[in-house]
Amino acid sequence: MSWENNIRRVVPYTPGEQPKQQNIVKLNTNENPYPPAPGAAEVLAGFDTALLRKYPDPNAQMLVDAIAKTYGVRPGQVFVGVGSDDVLSMAFMTFFNSEKPILFPDVTYSFYDVWADVYRIPYETVPLDADWRIRPNDYARPNGGIVFPNPNAPTGVLESLDTIEQILQANPDSIVIVDEAYIDFGGVSALPLLDKYDNLLVVQTFSKSRSMAGIRIGFAIGSEKLIGYMNDVKFSVNSYTMNHLTIQCGAASLADEPYFRDCCGRIVKTREAAKEKLASMGFSFPDSKANFLFATHETVDAGRIFEALKQRSIFVRHWDKPRIAPYLRITIGTDEEMAKLYAALEDILREEAGK
Ligand code: PMP
Repeated sequence: MSWENNIRRVVPYTPGEQPKQQNIVKLNTNENPYPPAPGAAEVLAGFDTALLRKYPDPNAQMLVDAIAKTYGVRPGQVFVGVGSDDVLSMAFMTFFNSEKPILFPDVTYSFYDVWADVYRIPYETVPLDADWRIRPNDYARPNGGIVFPNPNAPTGVLESLDTIEQILQANPDSIVIVDEAYIDFGGVSALPLLDKYDNLLVVQTFSKSRSMAGIRIGFAIGSEKLIGYMNDVKFSVNSYTMNHLTIQCGAASLADEPYFRDCCGRIVKTREAAKEKLASMGFSFPDSKANFLFATHETVDAGRIFEALKQRSIFVRHWDKPRIAPYLRITIGTDEEMAKLYAALEDILREEAGK
């Protein structure tokens, strides 16, 4: 069929399952178990539906200004999008236009190679070391751009600002994107490096630490020049990415810093307790600074645990891929959800031991 020859064929990204069943323990997509800031609920309750008739502000200025104020940057340094997936996708399209390959770790967010494919960007993956760490020297070679999450996903490993700075110093001619989707759970943001490097783009999201995965808000902060280029591309694709409700809810979340800090603190506390509990059950994992653990069991196969948990209505994430197949990625839930997970794991491990 001739028309099929002209199709942009891609193998799409596979998002985590969103099961329809009720009463499950959902620890598979790194959602936040706590509700968003109460101010967001107030926005929803008081929302004037007459507004729906009108187009939203194409600049989402109210949200951009609130982000700029929160992070101590100028509004011209902020780009907003429909989740950080949209922001990263726009960043790939805007900044990765070289014949040289872009670089990212071999074990990382599995959307990067999909965007590279859809935009026809050549790429090479750079192996993490045996402890899942980035070796900055590996990035000191010709490239068309660099992207990595910090903390990394699905490992949860946090790299130091020193490592990031080494990569920036070796790459003055490339855009370096640091995807900080999980930075608020104990990481140190690369934002202060923006004062020294105008080729750095820091991307964050409201999906995890602000409990707003369902409304879709992500943002990038970089030099005004970089953000200007991203906006040129965005306004060449779709001007109205952010709707009225999203803009207002996002601003309401940012207005409540104590609530945000409290939620992140609770997750960090539960995560640290989970490390102890899982270790006592024979699991090991790289030290995570994210809202998930990347855990492998000393004797029982990860795929078997994954299936057995699912039968007990507990969902975690497992990939049948090189290097990571022995691991489960377990999102940190509430203490009650984690207690259910531990009970199920104890049960499963007992069963497996008796086989
Ligand atoms: N980056 C990383 C590393 C992620 O794990 C995710 C979540 N799937 C995202 C970006 C995108 O999240 P969102 O689009 O919800 O902001």
